[in-house]
Amino acid sequence: MNQVALITGGTRGIGREIALTLAKQGYDIALNYRTENEELEELKSMIEKEQVECLLVKGDVSHFEECEQFVKQIIEKFGKIDVLVNNAGITKDTLLARMKKEDFEQVLEVNLVGTFNVTKNVISYMMKARKGRIVNISSVVGISGNAGQTNYAASKAGIIGFTKSLAKEVASRNILVNSIAPGFIKTNMTEVLKEEIKQEIAKNIPMQRLGEPKDVAGVVKFLVSEDSSYITGQVIQVDGGMLM
Ligand code: NDP
Repeated sequence: MNQVALITGGTRGIGREIALTLAKQGYDIALNYRTENEELEELKSMIEKEQVECLLVKGDVSHFEECEQFVKQIIEKFGKIDVLVNNAGITKDTLLARMKKEDFEQVLEVNLVGTFNVTKNVISYMMKARKGRIVNISSVVGISGNAGQTNYAASKAGIIGFTKSLAKEVASRNILVNSIAPGFIKTNMTEVLKEEIKQEIAKNIPMQRLGEPKDVAGVVKFLVSEDSSYITGQVIQVDGGMLM
């Protein structure tokens, strides 16, 4: 029986790459998505080409009941969840002076409360199984802060606190909880930046380039593997040396 991995926000960018990487490792994939798009079925077939199963589960992670619902669907199909990757995330960048309360709340609701909503619904199954791996996608700005991102940085710093606290709660049950803090990764999220800005950012990164989704997916692969069986409560930066 294959291990089962749930990835939230798996339709594109980093989440999509994580799903494909874990499928290649032989995990059955439960792929959470919020918005239907034409590439979803194509992604499902790509995953299934790896001789694993793929279940698409719709749901907005910021809605607790929807998370409850899609976790039930996964349990009905596979009977267990071995790996949870809380990846779904959004930005609504602007300086605090201009930020609307809704912009602050929405980013917290998706990034931080969403991580709670999904984890809360999954953890009881992992506790019963006395086994599990959880990887929460934070960001380097959750460590360093970033002008124009008070909402996003607060949500990502919150994820780090959440990760460490939960790691302490469930370590004795053989559930390992870690966080990844990516730097600038080439996805739709960073595509909005102007080319000059991206070049400027790259200049300030010791490795002189933005990251690729596979740079993050490779670390997820490690964190859910037997090779990381004595690592919990950590924040692993994947940022080309940007923040040291
Ligand atoms: P993208 O914008 O490319 O993808 C985000 C994914 O999350 C999409 O599939 C999106 O689905 C989904 N999503 C958004 N809101 C929700 C929701 N409420 N419920 C379910 N799914 C949702 O972003 P990235 O791939 O770049 O980012 C992935 C994660 O990595 C995020 O948590 C992000 O904060 C983090 N990160 C990214 C960095 C980067 O440089 N790219 C740097 C540091 C961290 P939909 O199509 O419905 O919007």
